[in-house]
Amino acid sequence: MRIPPGREGKGGLGEALAAEKAAEIGRLAAEAARALSCEAGLGAAEAVLRAGLLKLGGAMLGEALSADPGYRGPRVGCGHGHEAAFTGYREKVIATVLGPVALRRAWYHCAGCGHGLAPRDAELGAAEGSMSPGLAAMSDKAAAAVPFAQAAGLLEDLAGISLTVKRVERAAEADGAAQATASRARAALIARRKLVPLPPDPLPDKLYAVIDGTGVPSPPRRPPAGRARAPTAGTTAIRSASGPTSSRSKLAWRRR
Ligand SMILES: [Zn+2]
Repeated sequence: MRIPPGREGKGGLGEALAAEKAAEIGRLAAEAARALSCEAGLGAAEAVLRAGLLKLGGAMLGEALSADPGYRGPRVGCGHGHEAAFTGYREKVIATVLGPVALRRAWYHCAGCGHGLAPRDAELGAAEGSMSPGLAAMSDKAAAAVPFAQAAGLLEDLAGISLTVKRVERAAEADGAAQATASRARAALIARRKLVPLPPDPLPDKLYAVIDGTGVPSPPRRPPAGRARAPTAGTTAIRSASGPTSSRSKLAWRRR
């Protein structure tokens, strides 16, 4: 952007940016007022303001991000016991709830792993992909509710964010895998009695133990006396209390 003469320097740049934003907001307000005077104007004014403010927000986020280029010294830990060396700056475009935002950050290369990394990506929670944490959470919610193609359509219609179906799918699978890893780590800690989960509050009235399956694998038994061959290994059908071979057996305990 062009800075007016005599307003160069840090304070001048800040003032010039604020003036530019104020002018953009003024232009948007005038456009929304014009749209309101037409037929079906409220919808048009909403669309104009939402698109304009999202764009403005994206630009402001980009400017805020550019304040820290992510240089963390000549060397940083790579996360696998080596040191990665600074090689320069690289640009990455992150999809956010405000639209795509370009991020220029310091890049390091680890000779031991043969991989590069940007510490700034991890600090921002965008190390694994190119989606901001806010947009990833939004996309995951939509993907959990409906098929991936519909989720991409919902994001476009409701939030004005355009993502490919593949991107919604990849983000949901990556976040699902991360959740599963965290859940397994937590379960292992609980099993080793290193972590004691707090009971829910209020306590539930009833607990169910559910066997999710139709049979339990059984090993071969010893052959009965007088028979040469043992019965082969097989599957024992689960019998529930309520039916002869129900696929789900529920046992309920009432809290006393
Ligand atoms: Zn390494």
